[in-house]
Amino acid sequence: MKALITGGMGFIGSHLCELLLAGGHEVALVDNLSTGRAENVAHLAGHKRLQIHIGNVRDKALMESLLEQNEVVFHLAAVVGVRSVLNDPLNCLDTNIRGTDMLMELACRYGNKVLIASSSEVYGKGTEGLLSENSNRILGPTTVTRWVYSVTKAVDECLAMSYAKGHGLPVVVMRFFNTVGPRQSSQYGMVLPTFVQQALKGEPITVYGDGSQIRSFTYVADAVHAAAALSQTEAAYGEVFNIGGTEPVSIAELAQRVKRITGSKSSIEFIPYEVAYGDGFEDSVVRVPDISKLHAAIGYEPQYSLNDMIVNTIEYFLERQPDIAPRRSVAISLNRAPTMEENACQSR
Ligand code: UDP
Repeated sequence: MKALITGGMGFIGSHLCELLLAGGHEVALVDNLSTGRAENVAHLAGHKRLQIHIGNVRDKALMESLLEQNEVVFHLAAVVGVRSVLNDPLNCLDTNIRGTDMLMELACRYGNKVLIASSSEVYGKGTEGLLSENSNRILGPTTVTRWVYSVTKAVDECLAMSYAKGHGLPVVVMRFFNTVGPRQSSQYGMVLPTFVQQALKGEPITVYGDGSQIRSFTYVADAVHAAAALSQTEAAYGEVFNIGGTEPVSIAELAQRVKRITGSKSSIEFIPYEVAYGDGFEDSVVRVPDISKLHAAIGYEPQYSLNDMIVNTIEYFLERQPDIAPRRSVAISLNRAPTMEENACQSR
């Protein structure tokens, strides 16, 4: 297929790009480099089936030409990360809603299939058990900025379902649950890269609240496999799918595991939400997906354990920051012999 990935130089987009190229597909990426990074796809530069475009999904002329040239669109471009949303909620609303609306309107005109990235944030702060695609959404007041992202993704989903019903647009909604792995930046507040970096540097690991909030992390390779498989499954169009992991963990336990696996001497510090995010912040208490619908559609089973996710994230940061102090002890706790470089690094 000829696939366009919006947000293709971002964390999930770059992994999806690799997977599609490996599957023999032609891939075009468009990214405005707001949270995406050129280095995420630098190793793919020059690939004969890859085109890279720097631009904004709000640029109508650019998007028209890209949609005309491609068949399937994976729409991953969005303002993401709790911190980005808190810093500029208007930009989040503008990009996530107007950008997606325009893209789907153009897709109707150019006959594209569309896969829209949504998020477990749409479920809000529910405390119930497994979240299935038809579970209720429980959000705080509109004056609490944290919920802006959730609202934008819910509007995107409503738009998708309405374009499907009203205009016959073939569209799939993918609700990603806390996707993690190599290339995820800690810059926008995401918890696993933040904890790993803190642990590797020997800095305090910052658990917000009392750490009892629960998440079910999804490894990025599992997430992009699901996205690619959904795009090739006719029965998936017109449907919403949870894409998530099956190993719920409290954030306090996550901090302990990161500390243990890195062999770090970091302390674990509990920071009140109002100190971390400002007054009036509300967190999601429990967020664990029911993935039976995804399993029924594409046979999805997560292939990576939570420990695999942590180890692979550690390895990624070690490769990028070779002067991190406790490299030798990390290698040992990862259950492999330290390299010569790691031994040398330890003695510096
Ligand atoms: N979190 C934390 N310390 C950090 C960053 C995040 O304890 O340095 C918590 C955050 O409050 C939330 C969970 O970790 O309860 C997951 O946060 P993230 O921003 O990764 O994703 P979210 O689930 O909020 O979308």
